[in-house]
Amino acid sequence: MILAVPASPDLFAARLYMKSPEANDRIAWNQGPPADCSDSEESGKPPWRLVLMGPPGAGKGTQAELLHQYLGACHLSTGDLLRSAASHPNCVQSPAMKAAQDLMSHGGLVPDSIVWDMVRERSACLRCPGGFLLDGFPRTVGQAEALTALMREEKLPLTAVVNYELPLPEIISRLSSRRTCRDCQSVQHFSAENEICNHCGGSLYQRDDDHPEAIAVRLKVYQRETAPLIEYYERFGLLVPVDATSSAAHVCARTVAALQHRLQTIA
Ligand code: ADP
Ligand code: ZN
Repeated sequence: MILAVPASPDLFAARLYMKSPEANDRIAWNQGPPADCSDSEESGKPPWRLVLMGPPGAGKGTQAELLHQYLGACHLSTGDLLRSAASHPNCVQSPAMKAAQDLMSHGGLVPDSIVWDMVRERSACLRCPGGFLLDGFPRTVGQAEALTALMREEKLPLTAVVNYELPLPEIISRLSSRRTCRDCQSVQHFSAENEICNHCGGSLYQRDDDHPEAIAVRLKVYQRETAPLIEYYERFGLLVPVDATSSAAHVCARTVAALQHRLQTIA
C-alpha cells in the first residue's frame, strides 16, 4: 500500500485543511489513559469527526491513513487496538481478551461491552480538538447508540459517516489476497512479485481472519450486525456513500469530493 496523493488537487477545496500528519502520534488511543498525545493543539478550524464504514476489505484502514494526511484528524481503529491488546503480554492471561481473540480469528465480533469499554476509556480522543476518523467502530447498532449518546452528552456532533461501497466479488478477492507486514503492520496486496513488505522489506503474513472460512463468517456478520447502521445513520442525515472500487488514491479523492459536497449542501 502506497500513500499516494490523490490525482486532482482541485478537489481539495478551502474547507479541507492540512495539518502536520506526522505530529500526532495517537499515543492516547494506542496506549489508553493516562497517556497523552504529543500534539493535540487547536488548529482554530472546526475538527473533522468522521465514522468510516463499509464491508471488510473496502479499504477503510487505508482510506483512514490517507484522509489523516489531508484532514489532520487521527485514525482511530478498534481492530488495531484489539489486535495489539490481544498480543500484549499483560493481556495474554486475561480470559476476556483470550475469548475476544478467538472470536476475532474466526471472523466474529468482539462483544459490545469489551469494545465499548476500550472506546469509552479513550473518550479523550473523541474530544480531541484535532477531530477523529473512527475505523471499524461502531460495528453494531448497540455500539452506534452508545456513541450517539456519548457525542450528544459531550456536544460533539459527527461531521459525517462515510460508507464505502464495494461489490461482493471484489470484497472476496481483496480479502483473500490481503497480507499484513509483521514489522510495520502495513496492509498490502499479495502476489508472486510482492512477497515482502514494500515499505520496510519485512515478511508478510495472512491475518487469521483473512482465511476463506473466516472471510465467509465476517461477511455474514457484516450483513447481520453492521449493514443496519447504513439506515441508522441515513436517518440522522449523516450518511455519505462513496464508491470504493479503483485505486486507494482515487477513492480518497472521491471521499474528499463527497465530504466537500456535503459541507456545501449543509452550509
Ligand atoms: P476489517 O474491517 O478488515 O474487518 P478490522 O481491523 O476493523 O478489520 O477488524 C478486525 C476484527 O476485529 C473484526 O472482525 C472483529 O472481530 C474485531 N473488531 C474490530 N472492531 C470491532 C467492533 N467495533 N466491534 C466488535 N468487534 C470488532
Ligand atoms: Zn513493513
